[in-house]
Amino acid sequence: MTSDSGICRTGNATGLDVFLCAHQDDEFSFLYTIQCSLAEGRDLLVLFLTDGGNSRIRDEESRRVLEAVGVHSSSIKFIGSELQFTDGKLMDHLLPAWRAIKNCIERLNSRVESIYMPAWEGGHQDHDVLHVLGVCLARKLGVYHSSRQIGLYHSYRMPWIFYRVLSPLELNGPTRKTPIPLSKRLEFLILFLNYRSQLRAWIGLYPFVVLDYLLDGAVKLQPISWSRIHQAPHPGVPLYEKRGFSNLQRVTISINDFLQTISSELSTENPIDPNNHS
Ligand SMILES: [Zn+2]
Repeated sequence: MTSDSGICRTGNATGLDVFLCAHQDDEFSFLYTIQCSLAEGRDLLVLFLTDGGNSRIRDEESRRVLEAVGVHSSSIKFIGSELQFTDGKLMDHLLPAWRAIKNCIERLNSRVESIYMPAWEGGHQDHDVLHVLGVCLARKLGVYHSSRQIGLYHSYRMPWIFYRVLSPLELNGPTRKTPIPLSKRLEFLILFLNYRSQLRAWIGLYPFVVLDYLLDGAVKLQPISWSRIHQAPHPGVPLYEKRGFSNLQRVTISINDFLQTISSELSTENPIDPNNHS
């Protein structure tokens, strides 16, 4: 449902929606969902979990984009910059990242409604380990079924280091599409020009985002899955391994160590598979 203002349904929902970003530009995929949360009257918390390689510049770029879509600066926390979690190395900081995210949420003393996170898709190692943090957090806070993942990019069934952008993996369960009004798509495409420090990455991304906005023009969200994070993101080699950024074995070891360490914090009953709910 869309309101007259072009923003999805309005209501008087309360509570807090948490958006998890590994890097200062990952929020590009969340902008319309963020505006929907604001329109529904929810409080927001947008967390960034790495220093982005150049926190001074990148924090400001993301702050500018988020404030332009209505997020108050007090709702944006650059955890990775404050705690010096190096871009690409979030897997080495899983436990302090877990504690820092929980602290940020607890301080707000607000009921969490949903957690939005990058998809489990083998695109970037930081996205995948942040996904695991998000799934664990959703379990701990009892919002597993209302939390969602969003695909950024992956190289499943793509040759060499080519990749697909904003393309949900079927393996991650059913996709729910929410159309983005044309005016919003144009507004966001202009806002993405703020990521000037990431010119090289965005030269690769931007044409695909434009194409997706033209052909699809919708936010594509999927449920999260406890069982999926115990599997490889997809058959074949993940993009981050093809690029030499990290490898699946190393990422898996870090994730398994983390899951073992925090297992006592989660309920003993494993949540049901996403294919059994929507
Ligand atoms: Zn990223």
